Amino acid sequence: MKYVADLHLHSRYSRACSRDLELPNIQAACLQKGIDIIGSADFTHPAWFGNLHNQLAEDGSSGLYYLKAAPTKVRWLLSTELSLVYKDKGKTRRIHLVVHAPNLQAVKELNDFLDGKYNIRSDGRPILGIKAPDLVKLCLSINPRFLIYPAHIWTPWFSVFGSKSGFDTLEECFDEQTENIYAFETGLSSDPAMNWRVSQLDKLLMLSNSDAHSCHNLAREANILDLDELSYDRFYNLLKNNQKSLVKTIEFYPEEGMYHWDGHRACNFSCPPEQSKKLKNICPVCGKPLIIGVENRVEELADREIGFKPVGASDYVKLVELDKIIADSLDIKTRSSTKVQAFYNKLINELGSELKILLEIDIKEIERVAGGQIALGVARVRRGELEVVPGFDGQYGVVKIFTQKEREARQRKLF
Ligand SMILES: [Zn+2]
Ligand SMILES: [Zn+2]
Repeated sequence: MKYVADLHLHSRYSRACSRDLELPNIQAACLQKGIDIIGSADFTHPAWFGNLHNQLAEDGSSGLYYLKAAPTKVRWLLSTELSLVYKDKGKTRRIHLVVHAPNLQAVKELNDFLDGKYNIRSDGRPILGIKAPDLVKLCLSINPRFLIYPAHIWTPWFSVFGSKSGFDTLEECFDEQTENIYAFETGLSSDPAMNWRVSQLDKLLMLSNSDAHSCHNLAREANILDLDELSYDRFYNLLKNNQKSLVKTIEFYPEEGMYHWDGHRACNFSCPPEQSKKLKNICPVCGKPLIIGVENRVEELADREIGFKPVGASDYVKLVELDKIIADSLDIKTRSSTKVQAFYNKLINELGSELKILLEIDIKEIERVAGGQIALGVARVRRGELEVVPGFDGQYGVVKIFTQKEREARQRKLF
């Protein structure tokens, strides 16, 4: 059976996250998006852990949970993100790790330990002064079936391979614990093809998660898992045994990610890696070093040419979220506009989940419900016919499915 899993998101208790991120709202969004397995988010935060403990119940002894008050097919997998900040080999390191737990008892034991030494109460994604290998050792000593892996592995400020405060190899980061790392997240700004160029990643399973800070960003990246049994143990084995054939990822266009190119947001300057090289990584506007993005950093650590595909690599599909397609198709600037939302809800109500609409539903059906323009938008995204102005220095890229010429022609027709 195929299941859509989004395993890294945040709760209302994480910094800069929406107040709406409560368990019932997240579940409603999962049904709308088409997510079957959702990460619990932020399990180290005491108040949020209280919610998980009180509102979720384990499905048998599967290690997966459901919402007691409104049981649906959605299953929760205990997950969190930790921010580790520490000195190692003479440099300050700042890295984010995804952690999955086999059950609530294991989470409680981890939380009790961390609470005695660190501040886990003020942020759903706590900052811990603990080295990555020590964190892995700690989790595995509590329960050997914890899973720990790099979050958004390439982003400049907070990742294992980040240009600002990361490492060049997995071994440098995880030392003797490297053998206990089974997976990594591509992050929004890179896609599998970029990661295939880095041979040290071959031994890890490539995963994609939304890292959503609000419900409407859920499933913007996700994993389609082929599982013969819906349980934590089955998921654990998938990662540990690197079963690439059982995973297909749903990807953001990497150019749309916030750190794809190099640049300075304040200077309104961005450029591809080739140009940064010519500029010696100095911003021509302010004269300070550029924020080096993901494409550049991948190039730096790549030991293979562009286009290389490892044998047995997992498959992937690049998508644009449905409300963005609708907005672009109707020439509306914001995806949250009432008109966009009305078409979005109509499509979901009549045709099924967002992922189903983006991936499977016949274009003629979409046309019947939402008109030719939106149907054409979806068709173009499926064929990869679009342009993206790349993101940089914390600013998202911009997807353009319809050209300026087409927009103008449409405007003329209207008036
Ligand atoms: Zn993060
Ligand atoms: Zn600048």
